[in-house]
Amino acid sequence: VKTVNVIGAGLAGSEAAWQLAQAGVPVDLYEMRPVQSTPAHQTDKFAELVCSNSLRGNSLTNAVGVLKEEMRRLNSVIIHSADETAVPAGGALAVDREGFSALITEKVKGHPLVTVHNEEITKLPEGITIVATGPLTSEALAEEIASFNGSHGFYFYDAAAPIIDGTTIDREKVYLKSRYDKGEAAYLNCAMNEEEFMAFYEALISAEVAELKTFEKEKFFEGCMPIEVMAKRGIKTMLFGPMKPVGLEDPKTGKRPYAVIQLRQDNAAASMYNMVGFQTHLKWGEQKRVFRLIPGLENAEFLRYGVMHRNSFMNSPELLRPTYQSRNREDLFFAGQMTGVEGYVESAGSGLVAGMNAALLAKGEPLLEFPQETALGAMAYYITHAEGKHFQPMNANFGLFPSLPERIRDKKLRYETLAQRALDALSQMEL
Ligand code: FAD
Repeated sequence: VKTVNVIGAGLAGSEAAWQLAQAGVPVDLYEMRPVQSTPAHQTDKFAELVCSNSLRGNSLTNAVGVLKEEMRRLNSVIIHSADETAVPAGGALAVDREGFSALITEKVKGHPLVTVHNEEITKLPEGITIVATGPLTSEALAEEIASFNGSHGFYFYDAAAPIIDGTTIDREKVYLKSRYDKGEAAYLNCAMNEEEFMAFYEALISAEVAELKTFEKEKFFEGCMPIEVMAKRGIKTMLFGPMKPVGLEDPKTGKRPYAVIQLRQDNAAASMYNMVGFQTHLKWGEQKRVFRLIPGLENAEFLRYGVMHRNSFMNSPELLRPTYQSRNREDLFFAGQMTGVEGYVESAGSGLVAGMNAALLAKGEPLLEFPQETALGAMAYYITHAEGKHFQPMNANFGLFPSLPERIRDKKLRYETLAQRALDALSQMEL
């Protein structure tokens, strides 16, 4: 069997290396720490958690809980180690951060089929390779990846607007229309009168902003301006920017509102909508409070909050296959946050799929695509089928799953049904 290179021993790379080794495939695992570090890592351990020690929800009424359960059943080193080092955290799976990384390091390093090399990789190696170097990929390798990907590139900053659960938008208050009625009516419009706008503006400029890491400060505002920064430039700035009402007359009255917030459909199933031009760095609780002042969004549930942070990720819809293989080189896989999945568990999950597939390729067997009904499959589908132009990293959420044949109004029951369908689909796979 061929040896597979794995670059990066973070959440995704450690999982990928483990899956390969468990499948009987030898691995050369390259990790640059401690020779060289990233601006966020503090130790030389594998799968270091750079921020929170929580791996988020652990129940099956939560998409990331379903993802964990699928990974548990596929012998994930990340999830099993998290279970073994868990600390009390209510419905979440939080871990003893040091114990968690130490255990993963011991298991992966100690595996007889894994050889660890502590060095920075700067060129994409020949042979079957998984690149899992994360959102803080070293500069030399980031350049190499950007040049391999050509014009589709490798972005460096993630400036994401919030995404809303489509079923929680008040359809009585919003209207479907494209500006100047160009093309088909594609946006849901939330209209405001002057009084509503002023109240919203006041709330926005006084809302609390999340703290920036020092390494994020320098280049932060180059690309995309957060909505709250724009608002602080003057009362009218947003009215000439993302909230401009021209061409968006309300079809019921024929009148042009004072201000409009547009929501753009974010997935083919129309279960998710993003707030156009509303990339933001407000604290999450503040986003909920302030954006619920928008007419039609009073009860909105946020599937993803707006974020702005350093984050190298690729335009996967144009570059990757659902097996996490590059479309341009079949023995090159990418995994982790750099593929546009977002979060510790999601990164590890993509590493698991990439690892399983690289093992199959090394053995000359057919590769696996996870069914879309599973959380692992829904994530792979999202990153390879989202619209390339507006592609943004995404946490696991039920909006990514194909909708159920019947409408279930009760949210808990709906989520439980989706979870059961996911686990059934997984158990029917020939693995
Ligand atoms: P990483 O875990 O970062 O692993 C990449 C590995 O590759 C590292 O060990 C790195 O040293 C190594 N490497 C890089 N370049 C090279 C090279 N050229 N050669 C060899 N090795 C290399 N997600 C959450 O769910 N919760 C959070 O609280 C959270 N906070 C975050 C805070 C920050 C500051 C950042 C940047 C991200 C955060 N994320 C969080 C997002 C994401 O889940 C984590 O970044 C996660 O670690 C991604 O996993 P990964 O395997 O893709 O990358």
